[in-house]
Amino acid sequence: MGSSSLLSAFARRLEGKVAVITGGASGIGECTAKLFCKHGAKVLIADIQDELAHSVCKDLGPTSASFVHCDVTDESDVRNAVDTAITKYGKLDIMFNNAGIIEAAKPANIVDFEKAEFEKILGVNLIGSFLGTKHAARVMVPARRGSIIITASVASIIGGTSPPAYTCSKHALVGLTRNTAVDLGRWGIRVNCVSPLGILTPFSRNFLGLDKDDTIEVYSNLKGAVTKPEDIAEAALYLGSDDSRYVFIMMVTIELDILTITKLNSMPIAANVQ
Ligand code: NAD
Repeated sequence: MGSSSLLSAFARRLEGKVAVITGGASGIGECTAKLFCKHGAKVLIADIQDELAHSVCKDLGPTSASFVHCDVTDESDVRNAVDTAITKYGKLDIMFNNAGIIEAAKPANIVDFEKAEFEKILGVNLIGSFLGTKHAARVMVPARRGSIIITASVASIIGGTSPPAYTCSKHALVGLTRNTAVDLGRWGIRVNCVSPLGILTPFSRNFLGLDKDDTIEVYSNLKGAVTKPEDIAEAALYLGSDDSRYVFIMMVTIELDILTITKLNSMPIAANVQ
């Protein structure tokens, strides 16, 4: 028996489930889309990068994955993404609110930070997850089940790793997770968030000003561990599957010790604060 048929026989942890993944065209979202499909889910990628998303869907195959253009800051787009999942696949089991942006490394200094830029980042990271959660709940409440996952960040927990708008948006996502977990728990719907540290994706390359092939040391307190998109995808797989059926208001986080925080604070982005 080949490895994929072994997987189908014993370990397709999302068999029969339907997921919407925002920001599924790249990085963590793309990797999660691939893992979810491997585990038997139907995945609808909701993103603004149409061409990239189409090519991800092509790799995954038309029976497993499809794409809907969705700007998560636009409520009608988010409503349409959720409704498309229902029309196409009949239900929605997992909503992964993962789309996110970060400003380029400068300025980290609040004095130089433009209001419009601040609102833009909150718009995608926070309002986008609010809208995704709201419209997922709209269809999950009548079904009395569902799992909503939000990509937060280490910047949800500590300050100084990122510029102000990003840190604020990610702190707020913990509040959104906690509140909606209590609210939607009444209907059997779970809400959790995942808080990665540094993972090399187009997002972090842009933030750190790295070229496509540059690599950097990503700080981790786990000796020998280099966090990859796959690690977050595995956490999302757990939270989306019935393996976590009694897990809600959980923040899967990367804990940092004081030495690591000091190192992060001496990175160029933080040193930029004058
Ligand atoms: P990425 O840039 O590879 O992917 C982000 C995706 O979001 C892209 O496909 C992009 O097109 C999409 N997107 C951006 N704006 C959108 C919008 N308005 N509507 C719909 N889609 C939109 O980045 P990534 O590293 O995979 O980031 C995914 C999530 O992980 C983000 O929420 C980010 O804040 C979070 N995160 C990343 C890191 C890291 O180091 N990479 C660390 C902590 C948290």
